Amino acid sequence: MASIEMSHIVKQYGDGYPAVNDVSLDIADGEFMILVGPSGCGKSTLLRMIVGLEDITSGDMVIAGNRVNDKAPRDRNLSMVFQNYALYPHLSVFENIAFPLRLAKVPDGEVQKRVEEAAGVLELKEHLQRKPANLSGGQRQRVAMGRAIVRAADAFLFDEPLSNLDAKLRGQMRTEIARLQRRLGITTVYVTHDQTEAMTLGDRVCVLRKGVIQQVASPRELYEQP
Ligand code: ADP
Ligand code: ADP
Repeated sequence: MASIEMSHIVKQYGDGYPAVNDVSLDIADGEFMILVGPSGCGKSTLLRMIVGLEDITSGDMVIAGNRVNDKAPRDRNLSMVFQNYALYPHLSVFENIAFPLRLAKVPDGEVQKRVEEAAGVLELKEHLQRKPANLSGGQRQRVAMGRAIVRAADAFLFDEPLSNLDAKLRGQMRTEIARLQRRLGITTVYVTHDQTEAMTLGDRVCVLRKGVIQQVASPRELYEQP
């Protein structure tokens, strides 16, 4: 678990208007923060700078007390769930979930134990030997989450994880993500353009517009404002 402190973060692609323009935001240890706003407002860019998939033009990114501006994604100890799940089609569900542990050279017995634990939480135990192509959309989403929780990361990052699911499944997975986050108590940053997700999932909501923070408030404060 860890805090994420962003101060005066700027991202400039080419010579246009900055995609992220002087964003300062502190996310507390264990907090669930939603990033919301219209398409093109800079949500994904901000998330990708937290993970390290995008360089920061200027400003400071501090995670768990360490400045990470120049750290590669693999040295940041974060778990990201992508919109398209980014599963490996040739690997079984077991090996997809185990992937971060294999990279970290965790011993087989420990891998077995931790994958089974994650699969238990996500109700994937009877699907461990299947390939992603033979799973439903919701099951694939769970595998992506299994890969995120199998290792003790400092924070979870979600980039519109439910946007490819139908409405019923989206509601169900929303409940699961909320439960999982509370159970693990892990710092979470969650990008969405879905109002329901924004209003029900987070401790706080950060509203972005044209790369600038418009407002940071609890869902209740947002709901009650005129
Ligand atoms: P959001 O996630 O809120 O839809 P993005 O972070 O994807 O917004 O994009 C913010 C702005 O940056 C947009 O104007 C987008 O066109 C621009 N942008 C995003 N990625 C790139 C890129 N790789 N190169 C140039 N411009 C980009
Ligand atoms: P977006 O939809 O926001 O553009 P992508 O899903 O394209 O993001 O993924 C961004 C990049 O991260 C891709 O180049 C992809 O290969 C890489 N990637 C995919 N899965 C993982 C993972 N589990 N961990 C780290 N990087 C990944």
